Amino acid sequence: MKDDKQKCIYCSNEVAATRDHVPPKCFFPKPRPSDLLTVPCCLGCNKSTEKDEELFLATFMFSQAGGSKEGKRLWNQKIDRMYEKNTGLRRIISKSLQYDHTYTPAGLYIGKQMTIEPDLTRAKKVVEKIVRGLYFYQYKKPFAKESKVNIVFLNTESSFQVAREKIDLLLPGDKAWPGIFEYGYNAVNQDQAKSIWLMMFYSSIYFFALTEN
Ligand SMILES: [Zn+2]
Repeated sequence: MKDDKQKCIYCSNEVAATRDHVPPKCFFPKPRPSDLLTVPCCLGCNKSTEKDEELFLATFMFSQAGGSKEGKRLWNQKIDRMYEKNTGLRRIISKSLQYDHTYTPAGLYIGKQMTIEPDLTRAKKVVEKIVRGLYFYQYKKPFAKESKVNIVFLNTESSFQVAREKIDLLLPGDKAWPGIFEYGYNAVNQDQAKSIWLMMFYSSIYFFALTEN
């Protein structure tokens, strides 16, 4: 493979001038693992979801993820500072936070809890880019730009449960950073264009994706 002429795996138009981290580098607290995954990418695509990634992280750190070991490290290292510096981000987050009556899946009232309504349009942009990056890594070829990636945010206890059961049916990803990001995947009927992906961020945030022609 001629590296100097390699195309960006996301847009397939531009020459890859840099490498993009999959998942985004900012998702890893420092010291970052030495085995981060990168894919060839143009400068435009490299920056295209930067703000969405920041919002993704800032939003989900208000969920269970923020209380995890890695989440706490992220809070200490940068999320606090991010809020301090970025009033726009603060405004978006405060709108998406709700202090609401909360019930367990079995219907037991557990009082008022903080819940967060993430901006899913923007979160899905981040997740789609991750899926395209993982696809390239696992299948050694880009997933066609015109082809669709359908993404579902698994935000209920029952969908978590389905996810946990499904994860054993999938092939474990060739890379995993426990507590930060793990994934499983498989091709549907041996057809790589139709593939399913289950991603877990900070052991508590699940996204499911299905690629199709
Ligand atoms: Zn590009």
